[in-house]
Amino acid sequence: MHQLNESIREILDRVDPERMRGDLFSLARDPLPCRRANVTLPGHDRSTLDEADDLISSRLESWGCEVLREPAQVQAYRCDTTKHPQAQYSPPVPEDPWYTVHNLHATRNGTERPDEIIMAIAHKDSQSWVDSPGAGDNAIGAVGVMEMARVLARVETARTVRFMFCNEEHTPWTSRVAAENAQKRGDRIIAVFNTDGIGRKSPEDNAAGKKTNVTKYTTPEGRALGELLCEVNALYGIGLDQSLFERPAPGDDDGSFVTAGFGAAVMNIGCNPSTADPNYHTVDDLPELVDVDNAAMTVRMILGAILTLDES
Ligand SMILES: [Zn+2]
Repeated sequence: MHQLNESIREILDRVDPERMRGDLFSLARDPLPCRRANVTLPGHDRSTLDEADDLISSRLESWGCEVLREPAQVQAYRCDTTKHPQAQYSPPVPEDPWYTVHNLHATRNGTERPDEIIMAIAHKDSQSWVDSPGAGDNAIGAVGVMEMARVLARVETARTVRFMFCNEEHTPWTSRVAAENAQKRGDRIIAVFNTDGIGRKSPEDNAAGKKTNVTKYTTPEGRALGELLCEVNALYGIGLDQSLFERPAPGDDDGSFVTAGFGAAVMNIGCNPSTADPNYHTVDDLPELVDVDNAAMTVRMILGAILTLDES
C-alpha cells in the first residue's frame, strides 16, 4: 500500500478540464473537423492528420517538450455500409493509396533513473472509413496525454516519462512501429498507460451521472498497473467508478507493446465493450457529447499512478 503524498495531490489538482475541452474542440471541430490521412481540407495542402500533428506538436513545444516524428506507412480502411453502423470498416485493397503518417514522441528525461521509461500513449487519428470527428475515439485520449505532458512539464521526475501519439484508425496500427523500434533500441519501458475513449460510456451511465473507467490488462504486470490505478483513485479521492478487465489477448495500442515484449501495458476506456457508447465509430462521435470532466478524472488517476511509480 502507498501513502498519500501531498505534493502528488497538489500536482493532480493542476489538471484543467476547461483547457482539455478547448483542445478537444480544436482537434474535433474547429480548425480540424477530423484527423485523417485521406482527408485534406479545401484550400489546404496537407492532410487533416498532418495538421493535427502540427497542432499537437506546437502545444507540446510550448510546454518545453521536444517532439520527434517517427514515420510509418498506412492505408485507409474502406467503408462497408452493409455492416453494423458501429463496425463499417473493411480492409483496403492492395492498389489503394499508401500514406506516410507519424507517431509523435515527446520525452522528458529522468534525473536519477533516466533509463527507466514510463509511457503515456493515445491514438490521435479519427476513423479513416467514416466522416466522423472521432471526438470520443480518440481526440479526448490524445488531449488527455497532452494534459499530462502540460502538467508534468513543471515537475522533475526520477524516471524518464515519454508521451506518444500514434494512429490506430488506419491500417496497420502505427503503435506497432513504435513498440518494435523501442524493442530494437533496448528501451527499458516499465509502464505503458494507453488512453483510448476515456469518459465514453453508455446512455444509462451518462444519465445516472456516473464517472467511469475500465482498465484493460493482458499480463500479470498489466494487472499490477491496474491495481495501482485503483489504489490511486481511492487514495486521492478521485471519485471514478474504476474497474479492471482481463483481455483474452493483447489489443489496441497497449497490445502493440505487450506483443513487442513490454508486458506492463494497459488500456483505459470509459466503457466495456466500446460499443456500449452508441456514438462509437459513427458520425455522431461529437465533441459536445464527450464527458470531459470524466476524462479529466481519468487523467488525474493516470498521472497519480505515474508519479507513484516514479517515487518507488
Ligand atoms: Zn476506434
